[in-house]
Amino acid sequence: MIAAAQGAFRSGDVLIQLHAVSKEFQAGPEPVRAVQQASLTLKRGELVLLQGPSGSGKTTLLSIMGCLMKPTRGRVWVGGQDVTSLGEDKLPSLRLQHIGFIFQSYNLFPALTALENVKLALRLKGYGWRERRKEATELLDRVGLHDCMSRKPGELSGGQRQRVSIARALCGATDIILADEPTASLDTATGLSIMNLLRDECVNGRKAVFVVTHDPRLERFATRVDHITDGVLTVGAGGSNNRLEETSTRMLPAEMPQEQSA
Ligand code: ADP
Ligand code: MG
Repeated sequence: MIAAAQGAFRSGDVLIQLHAVSKEFQAGPEPVRAVQQASLTLKRGELVLLQGPSGSGKTTLLSIMGCLMKPTRGRVWVGGQDVTSLGEDKLPSLRLQHIGFIFQSYNLFPALTALENVKLALRLKGYGWRERRKEATELLDRVGLHDCMSRKPGELSGGQRQRVSIARALCGATDIILADEPTASLDTATGLSIMNLLRDECVNGRKAVFVVTHDPRLERFATRVDHITDGVLTVGAGGSNNRLEETSTRMLPAEMPQEQSA
């Protein structure tokens, strides 16, 4: 089977569901309760923000949602599949096909160009070279990097690097985008332009986007704002019935100052 054909979940709109998820780390005499009894749902068309102080469990929760880590207790479903009962060997392919990650530090390969970084992700997903070139070019075009495809990360601004990592996260028809402080290294205008891109993926691509952030200015983009303190999650108002629509908040290009160089 061609990897591309596996891209989209065929199940309904619920893409991630956590039920009473807890995670404890054994580091020293007392276990660290990083996440305690967290339950949430993430649906197609939602853009959810997760806010909380440093050390409150945000990255741990995101890692569990992204199948990078199994919870100590509780259940996790991704695309209707019970991840907690899946073997460790099945998780990498589930992640690869359905989940795109975006990090504060971009995590790009410095020796590869923007185009090569995205093509490599497609190669891992099993795409042939012609498809890789076509899809990587289209995605980089879509995130506004038409003229920078042959530049390496060191030759790009912070905002441009984050756009490459978004293109990489979107490639291969990913349904779910999980982002850990994606705008934290960027100036306000660039951060907002990155959020616009993620918002467009929710509206037009009908994807689900979950963003960990400290930045209250991003709240206007969200269908829901969740909070976590000392590992205890409070799911925000609006339930999970809100969807981003074409008319919802978007910064107009004219409102945005030019991106600063890195
Ligand atoms: P945040 O992303 O909100 O800053 P984290 O999820 O990274 O918080 O961490 C939550 C808590 O779990 C912190 O107390 C942190 O020190 C602890 N923690 C995270 N990862 C590990 C680990 N691998 N081993 C031990 N403790 C950890
Ligand atoms: Mg963190």
